[in-house]
Amino acid sequence: MNNHVTVLEIDANAVLHNLNYFKQKLNPETKILAVVKAFGYGSDAVEIAKILENKVDYFAVAYSCEGIALRKAGIKLPIIVLYPQKQNMRDIVNYLLEPNLYSFELLDAFLDFTYEEEIKGYPIHIEFNTGLNRLGFSNLDVPRLVTKLKEVESLSIRSVFSHLVASEDLGEVEFTNNQINTYKNIIEQFTWLMGYRPTTHMLNTSGVVNYSDTNFDMVRVGIGIYGFGNHPEVTSRLKNVFTLKSVISQIHSIGKGETVGYNRAFCASKPIKSATIPVGHADGISRKLGNKNGYVTINNKIAPIIGNVCMDIIMVDVSGIDCKAGDEVIIFNHQDQINYIADKCETISYEILTGLSQRIKRVIKK
Ligand SMILES: *Cc1c(COP(=O)(O)O)cnc(C)c1O
Repeated sequence: MNNHVTVLEIDANAVLHNLNYFKQKLNPETKILAVVKAFGYGSDAVEIAKILENKVDYFAVAYSCEGIALRKAGIKLPIIVLYPQKQNMRDIVNYLLEPNLYSFELLDAFLDFTYEEEIKGYPIHIEFNTGLNRLGFSNLDVPRLVTKLKEVESLSIRSVFSHLVASEDLGEVEFTNNQINTYKNIIEQFTWLMGYRPTTHMLNTSGVVNYSDTNFDMVRVGIGIYGFGNHPEVTSRLKNVFTLKSVISQIHSIGKGETVGYNRAFCASKPIKSATIPVGHADGISRKLGNKNGYVTINNKIAPIIGNVCMDIIMVDVSGIDCKAGDEVIIFNHQDQINYIADKCETISYEILTGLSQRIKRVIKK
């Protein structure tokens, strides 16, 4: 049981609001897959899955252990494992997870396993690479793949999908439209050779925002559920899910010429008051936020981080802020602040969220 005073509050109503924002952009019959990989983008995958289980059609995780955690918590909805490994086949089947078989090597390994175990009709998914060059069969593989799939009884193909390279980048509309067309051609060929049309999905969050007229059967929404639209206008319509907060441990009076923190990185040019807060780079607060690049909010006033971020601790300048040990500290409670942190760390919201370590206590606000 985590009893840390630094907590990440997760707003369940905001999650539902965000899901509905994407739902109203889609045809009512379009299915929704909620992506809950990487601890639900740093939140709490099990809690997010419980909030969404009756409101979406599918979940996806990256690795099988993430799916196992959901099953152990009683989640019954189908779960795609986007990035299964050969070593995990038995676990995948034991926990009724649905692997994405993205190569002949993986497909053959899974087929061998299903023969040995005499499994019939096991639900699987097939990914095609249409430009990301990360995972998936090539469009040239369709005939050979279909010939193989038609022979087997041990598998049941639940979907054939692909993934966009730059759905958020309106400078890449032409590339993206080419990708969508490549995928549509794959689906046509697959349907013709296989004799039926598989369930299709290609769009992630920004795909839904920018290409919602593609009319595939399902969409895969990740970051959007967690409050980020990869565009200020979209994000402003989503509700903030994450509040990271802590408490002041100690106040110090720093005299002129004294320094604060490791390697004396902050030196007081005049007397100041500092507060010490129990959160550090081991929690996901990057060292790039030290030396006044980042700030926290205490009693509604901004307190810059001074000196270097320590592993477990930061110090902030609270000169002029009426505060004492035990007072609440907000590290962030709005998407704009998370995006600000991401900018300062030269990264994207995804990395800030998923980088929040498991040491931070998660609390669901209902
Ligand atoms: C992570 C992931 C998603 C979700 O993307 P968002 O941009 O977070 O919506 C969708 N599909 C695949 C294959 C992914 O790996």
